[in-house]
Amino acid sequence: MKIRTIKQIHNLKNKRVLVRVDFNVPLEKGKVAEDARLIASLPTIEHLIKKGAKVILVSHLGRPEGFDKKLSLSPVAKRLENLMGRQVKLLKIERLKDYRNEVVDQISKMKNDEVVMLENIRFFPDEAKDENNFGKTLSGIADIFVLDGFAVVHRDSGSVTGVAKHLPSYAGLLLEKEIVGLSKAIEKPKKPFVLVLGGAKMETKLPVLKNLLSKADYVLIGGGIFNTYLWAKGCKVGKSLIDKEYKNEALKLLKNKKVILPVDFVVGKENGDKARVQDTSYKIQVTNNEAIYDIGPQTIRLYARYIKKAQTIVWNGAMGYFEQKPYDVGTLSIARLVASRSKGKAFGIIGGGETLQAMEKVKMMEFVDLVSTGGGAMLEFLSGQRLPGLKLLTK
Ligand code: ADP
Ligand code: MG
Repeated sequence: MKIRTIKQIHNLKNKRVLVRVDFNVPLEKGKVAEDARLIASLPTIEHLIKKGAKVILVSHLGRPEGFDKKLSLSPVAKRLENLMGRQVKLLKIERLKDYRNEVVDQISKMKNDEVVMLENIRFFPDEAKDENNFGKTLSGIADIFVLDGFAVVHRDSGSVTGVAKHLPSYAGLLLEKEIVGLSKAIEKPKKPFVLVLGGAKMETKLPVLKNLLSKADYVLIGGGIFNTYLWAKGCKVGKSLIDKEYKNEALKLLKNKKVILPVDFVVGKENGDKARVQDTSYKIQVTNNEAIYDIGPQTIRLYARYIKKAQTIVWNGAMGYFEQKPYDVGTLSIARLVASRSKGKAFGIIGGGETLQAMEKVKMMEFVDLVSTGGGAMLEFLSGQRLPGLKLLTK
């Protein structure tokens, strides 16, 4: 996929550039608890400033219904200020009409090395569905629009697609990196291409499996998909995480020859008690108050053989309930294997909230070639869906 990027803009001097970032970060006691999303957009912001542009940042935070002081971007602006060593001015205005005049006024007074940030864009109810010409009004404060937050490209909202319809629009460096990286997996992946798929939300995982089955050489399965498959085949799985709605689809998709299923798993109580390994070639015995919580040691060994030969790897979704010991072994082993092979010969991509947490736990994040900042957006992209925010940036 080819998209227009900010590297193609010739003249940025004194241009007002509205940059849609995803600074939807967790807050704790009024402070930013995790700033990876801020750091991810720094290259874009710095690039624009260096070229003489006036940068106006737009983001949402949480899901406010109207103005909500607790969801102000103020702590985010402060953290960004520290990270950049530049002044970040937060514009706190409550109605878009005033907003526009005041913003236009403030921007005209901006110094060359400072940055302006609009207050939480979801304080405006019209933002979500781009109602009452919200995007058009917003476009009135800038000359150019840049979309950088990959995690919001699947949203058809005022500050994503709405504004892009009314201004020359480009992808920022973060968005470009994500699209270029993910395209490597879905366009011409280097072979063997191994997809590792686990986790919980089946409605987001099965479309990925469906789309990538034709492109991948092997798909290694764990988590809820595996449980659902066992249950669909008629095994007693106790209170394992399953999704009954996907019974037939799971049976059909996992029958594919490219799909590698666990040969053993760990079963036990939710708190880790009575944890033991079972082989899938024997009759499966899970009592009513137990569940399948992880892939087993033979499966880890089996999956390691595939991962160690891969040239392209995509990993999304935990292999088990890794928040509880001893059910973390499968997921953390896969994390180490994926990271080591990415450091070596493979192009490695990981994404998803819990998947990233697992990689953080083994402290090998820097070995992964592309750590996607957009969980939901990444899955939709890998499912082959057209993302509304990208459509407007396509060459
Ligand atoms: P991601 O956010 O990385 O896309 P998901 O949100 O789909 O991943 O799912 C991750 C969650 O799934 C983890 O919190 C993990 O505990 C849970 N999970 C995976 N396998 C199991 C299992 N066998 N039993 C219970 N929970 C599981
Ligand atoms: Mg998740």
